This record gives sequence, C-alpha cells and structure tokens, in this order.
Amino acid sequence: MTISNVPTPSVSFEALGLNEALLAAVESAGLKKPSLIQTRAIPPLLRGKDVLIASQTGSGKTAAFVLPMLEALARRKEQGLETQGPWALILEPTRELAAQAAAVCRQLGRRLPIKTRVICGGTPREQQLRGLEDGVDIIVATHGRLLDLVVQGDLVIDQIGYLVLDEADRLLDDEFTESMTALSTHFPDIQPQTVFCSATLPEPVMALAKRVTQDPVRIEVETEDATPQRIRQRALFVTKDDKVAVTKKLLGHFTGRTMVFVQTKQGAETLGRSLARSGLSVETLHGDRTQGARARALTRFREGQVQVLVTTDIAARGIDIPDVECVINADMPTSVPAYIHRIGRTARAGKRGIALTLLDPQERHLLRDVEKETGQRVRIVTEDAPDR
Ligand code: AMP
Repeated sequence: MTISNVPTPSVSFEALGLNEALLAAVESAGLKKPSLIQTRAIPPLLRGKDVLIASQTGSGKTAAFVLPMLEALARRKEQGLETQGPWALILEPTRELAAQAAAVCRQLGRRLPIKTRVICGGTPREQQLRGLEDGVDIIVATHGRLLDLVVQGDLVIDQIGYLVLDEADRLLDDEFTESMTALSTHFPDIQPQTVFCSATLPEPVMALAKRVTQDPVRIEVETEDATPQRIRQRALFVTKDDKVAVTKKLLGHFTGRTMVFVQTKQGAETLGRSLARSGLSVETLHGDRTQGARARALTRFREGQVQVLVTTDIAARGIDIPDVECVINADMPTSVPAYIHRIGRTARAGKRGIALTLLDPQERHLLRDVEKETGQRVRIVTEDAPDR
C-alpha cells in the first residue's frame, strides 16, 4: 500500500489534468483551488489506481472521487466506449447522502453528456426504473434498493468500472455485508477501480477495505474540521423534565439556522411539535418520516424557509448545509465521535459556530471525554447567557 500523507504543494485544478468541461464546472461551482484531499486523490485516481481515503466530510472528498470519475467517463465517451448499464456506482449509507453525492455529480458533470441517477428506498420502485430507461452512466445508491433492482434483473451492473464506497465505516453492518456479497456476484469479472472512503480506519473497516480494494494508494488527511477550532463549545446541566423549555429558551438567542439533535425518532417528533407550537419555524428529519418528507425537510432547512431542524443522528454526518449557526444537542450523543460529527454541522467552510449540549448532571463525565478528544474546553453556561 502506498501512503500519501506528506504535505503537497498547492496546485491548481488545471495542473491536475482535468478536461475543459470539468474545469469550467469547477469554476462555476466556486471551487478556486483543489483541497488537500483532492490534490492527493485525483492524480492516482486518474491513473486508474484504487484509493483509500481516510478523512472527515468537509474535506472535499466527494469532488475528489467525482472529478476523476467524470474525467474517465468523458474520455470513454470520446473513445466511443459506451456501456450497456452504468459505468460508475457510488454507494452511500443514507438516502440524504446519496442525494447529496448525486447533486455533486450533476453539478460538476453539467457540461458533459453524463446521466446520474439515484437508486434508494423510500421512492416508488417504478419511478426509479423509469429514470433508468433512457440510459445511465452513474448510479448513486443505498444498498437495499440497489440489490433489489439488480436481483430482479431490472438493473445490470456487470459493466461497472468505477466503484465508490463512501462513508464506509457506516456501511459495516451485517445487512450491508450481505448486500455486498450478493452484489459482488453481479459485478464484472474484472474488479472495478475502487475508492474507499471512511472517516477513520479501525480494524473492521480496514478488513472491508482490504476485501474491496487492490493495492490502494492510502490518503489520510487530518481535517481541521475534525477538531473544529472555530466552534465555541458550551454545555448546560439540565434535568430531563426541563429539556424542552431550555431548548426553546436557547433557540431564542439565535436568529441563524440551528440544528437540534435528539437521540430517538420519537424524541425528534415530540420536540419538533412542541417547538412548532411555540411559534418557531421547524422541520423534523428522522428515519420514521417518508422519503418525500425527509427530502422536503432538508430542502426547506437548506433554503432557509425554516430556521430549526430537529433531527436524529441520521443527519449528524456528511450532511453539508452552509451557514448553520448553532448546533444544540438536546440529548447528549452516546459517543464522542457522534458528538464531533454532530457539532461539525456548524462552522463549515471557514465560518464560525456554536455547539450547545444539554447534559444531565450525571453525564458530567462525558464532557471530560469530549474535552480530551477535541483538545478544547467546553464552557458551562446557562440558558440565559449561552454564548458567554
Ligand atoms: P465533502 O467533504 O465532499 O462533504 O465537501 C464538503 C464541502 O466542501 C462542500 O460544500 C463542497 O462544495 C466544498 N468543497 C469541495 N471542494 C472544495 C474546494 N476545492 N474548495 C472549496 N470548497 C470545496
């Protein structure tokens, strides 16, 4: 395995060897120069190497695997190498991330004759099949529905030449392993070029990486976002009965976009309703809502039609919404990595943000773990002056 984590001098997108259409799309997407991960990942990917990316979201990793994929697809089209089915497959752990990755494919591929389709549960099967009728180059999928279509013979994936496992550490459950085993029998005999992305690479993740990649170039980037210096972390001691009232009060201090995280789907519904009753503009996003409702909630929040999004950990990772001013953990997450992912929804793209965590006094010890992991003090505040 090649390790590529030495600092790289800053290069331009032009110098990375992308075609004109991609350079124009990159420019109109407002990307001025490649991020570190892009500088390191794009050249080996353009050479056809497998790549293992260990980095948090926010590092620009999506464009890092999408740009070489589009470049390769454009070259194939130029050479008349059309495939019957899709040539690229991106697997995502959630429907929201699938939609987000597909949006990046479409945005960066908009000047190329390339079709991207999303395949995931929660949308009528027939509708997705219709979307495939006039050909498809890139499939962005969650594994359940993909497997369904492949097994029923509605989608053929034996021409896949580029495979991405995004957020692979979240794909590690038994269900995914079963799907992967079943899907791999439908893959072409020649293993596709594979990109494996994960926030961290503990042993079980590495075991999966070894199974799906061949002699990968390994790229590790410690994003500053992992321990975000720009996030002011605050905590409040609150008993369970006071949580709703305190959350309302906290929201009164902020006018910007705020994400409120709770532990359960039921909790998200209850809190969402209660906040709405007190006149706040709120959406809820959790696994019990229909796919349409989830997409609508995210869009309304992203576009600023509602100020508050009450959600579970489903939206804690990867979701990239600009200008989230504040994250409130109405329930303390069960692990420090989950905490870091949640608070990383604010202070994105160089902005500043605040993270407020409501803790039961008995959960006090968790704060020490957070401080140790982030290397930053978490100041104890009250709901009257949360940003002191
Ligand atoms: P990701 O790590 O793929 O979730 O990307 C997070 C955010 O970084 C997205 O909002 C991208 O638009 C943004 N981004 C990606 N590449 C660049 C770049 N080269 N320069 C600035 N922002 C970028």
